[in-house]
Amino acid sequence: MPGVGPCPADILIVGEAPGFNEDRQGEPFVGAAGKLLDTLLARIGLSRPDVYITNVLKCRPPMNRDPMPNEAEACSPYLKRQLELVQPKVVLILGRHALERLMPGQGSISRIHGSLIKRGDIAYVPLYHPAAALHNGSLVADLEQDFDRVKAYLEKVLAPPPPPVPVPVPAPKQEAEQLRLL
Ligand code: URA
Repeated sequence: MPGVGPCPADILIVGEAPGFNEDRQGEPFVGAAGKLLDTLLARIGLSRPDVYITNVLKCRPPMNRDPMPNEAEACSPYLKRQLELVQPKVVLILGRHALERLMPGQGSISRIHGSLIKRGDIAYVPLYHPAAALHNGSLVADLEQDFDRVKAYLEKVLAPPPPPVPVPVPAPKQEAEQLRLL
């Protein structure tokens, strides 16, 4: 399954792997976790057409089990190319599997969720996976807070540049002279 969304896009969201519904529809995050993701995006004034969404794994693991390292490795050229083509300014990393793939050795998601990690021109924000919040409701508040941080950051990096300050142009000499004689 490819990703879905505009290309290029300022925001790229990376999940874990397609689930049952995603596999059938050929689109990421169309099930219950996707509904929560939509709510979180709406909270910060965004919707699906504003973001590019994909997964570490491009196919559903059998029985919905966790991705295996060799599977993530096999799919990684696709993810890498998606990053190159989408050229995001911000990458939202959903869950520990995406974190391990995009920032190996960075630490656990419970420790670094909501922090902004700059690598070159891209800011990466690790977040709890929405499916984890569906299992453990106490994570919803963390996700909401973290999305609010993403909003503040986006406002900073995506703000249009300030208008140029007009530079006063001195009147041509002759004109200035005429004015003086009046
Ligand atoms: N969970 C994911 O990580 N990706 C999806 O596309 C759906 C659920």
